[in-house]
Amino acid sequence: MSNPATPVAGARSAAAAPVSSSPLGAADLRALRDAVSGEVLVAGDPRFDAVRGLHNTHYSRTPAAIVRPADAIDVSRAVLTARELGLELAVKSGGHSVAGHSSTDGGILIDMRTLNAVDIDPIRWVGSAQGGTTAGEYTLAAHAHGMATPFGDTLSVGLGGLTLGGGIGWLARKHGMTIDNLLEADLVTADGRLVSVSEESDPDLFWAIRGGGGNFGIVTRFRYRLHPVEIVSGGALFLPLSREVLRGLVDASMAAPEALTQISFVMRMPPAPFVPAELVGTPSVVVMPVFSGPLDEAAAAMAPFRALATPLIDMVGPMPYPAQYQFTAEGEAPSAGVLRSSFLPDLNDAALDAIVERHSSSAPGMPMLQLRVLGGAMARVPADATAFAHRDTPVMATVITGTTEDHYAEALAWTEAYHAELSVGSTGVYSNFLAEEAGRLSQAYPGATYERLVQVKRRVDPQNVFRGNHNIDPS
Ligand SMILES: Cc1cc2nc3c(=O)[nH]c(=O)nc-3n(C[C@H](O)[C@H](O)[C@H](O)COP(=O)(O)OP(=O)(O)OC[C@H]3O[C@@H](n4cnc5c(N)ncnc54)[C@H](O)[C@@H]3O)c2cc1C
Repeated sequence: MSNPATPVAGARSAAAAPVSSSPLGAADLRALRDAVSGEVLVAGDPRFDAVRGLHNTHYSRTPAAIVRPADAIDVSRAVLTARELGLELAVKSGGHSVAGHSSTDGGILIDMRTLNAVDIDPIRWVGSAQGGTTAGEYTLAAHAHGMATPFGDTLSVGLGGLTLGGGIGWLARKHGMTIDNLLEADLVTADGRLVSVSEESDPDLFWAIRGGGGNFGIVTRFRYRLHPVEIVSGGALFLPLSREVLRGLVDASMAAPEALTQISFVMRMPPAPFVPAELVGTPSVVVMPVFSGPLDEAAAAMAPFRALATPLIDMVGPMPYPAQYQFTAEGEAPSAGVLRSSFLPDLNDAALDAIVERHSSSAPGMPMLQLRVLGGAMARVPADATAFAHRDTPVMATVITGTTEDHYAEALAWTEAYHAELSVGSTGVYSNFLAEEAGRLSQAYPGATYERLVQVKRRVDPQNVFRGNHNIDPS
């Protein structure tokens, strides 16, 4: 997936970002520097702009100071100092927030990327990662032992935001969401305490951090369950775009064995080295499967997809699990973009027509529709077991439009109109794919989920210190 984004109130474009020294007074800056043992960056430092930058370059905010913690105690001290100084607090791990949440104008940004140690315990099948680790860092370390924990589809995404929002990726049908494999999290609370949260120690808080985002504290370490995942059948199957292919794709994905999870993209074929020149620009459905099971069963699992139409390109075959991520590597590069997403019970006739029409006619930039068909292990978890309530909705449709600042307004209008056509009958939205969209928080956290999140928030963060997120307002 690439280029997600949408405007946030107060966000400034990259072009308008000021370059100035910190608005913190000398005494306050000294207090912050004295409090932490890690680095404190302010504007003017050669690395300041690179560290405050986000994956979606549409967002550009300028913190008064950036704390790069040396350990969990630094995180705690940064939280307490920000509170003492009355400054807004922001937390950044991978910086991939599609709502541009992980920065602040004039507040203190905690850059968790300095805390990225990973420890794989192959005896207990437990992986431990500090709160600023990326999915790639963990996935490569686990792969060295022939193991994996389910994350998303892109290596550069941070485990911080990914896990706390839910985590839906290549292994969702086989091993569930990231939160279904979370065993424990070490958290810095709003009052600066360091706590370990698990089903045993604090079931309500553990429930809330599995889907409720960064509302409840700053995670300094995650502990996850590992699974045997080494060589998978993965890759990409390019099919010509048609109504029949789309219909068949959804049906085949729902009927597929749980060992197979696919993430598909409707898009014009890119000018990549493996795409023959005459096919570049052809409207296509790119099916990206991961079959994690006995390899001699992979061809049978893929047969219904290959039978949908004569493939334009077939690059599906055995590979080490991390190699699957090369097919989404382009999405790792920071750029401006707009994203709109919905859970759907199915693709209805009007949606099928809209998809074919939208991707066959000219459109701004290089728009993509990402289609995920879920189910399997992810759907077997009861809807109220975690703060992610959308267990039984099979289809997730996400419009992603890459753009530039000059064409942002046009891309936003196009993306919203397309999403409106698709999302009739929507059952909700995944919080990690929720941009800054007025009125949709209740679609991410329906009724009872929202009420329980508010109860936990009132207990652990009544002052709403952690509000740079899809905010659960304790008031
Ligand atoms: C290219 C791309 C591909 C993606 N693919 C997938 C996918 O396949 N599956 C999926 O489920 N999601 C996917 N996402 C969405 C992604 O999970 C969310 O954007 C997620 O919030 C990003 O996490 P991050 O740490 O990189 O983001 P950040 O921008 O650093 O943080 C996002 C939010 O989480 C909070 N946060 C981050 N770290 C911590 C921490 N340690 N403690 C407390 N709060 C924290 C931040 O304050 C912020 O509110 C994708 C996003 C992009 C841009």
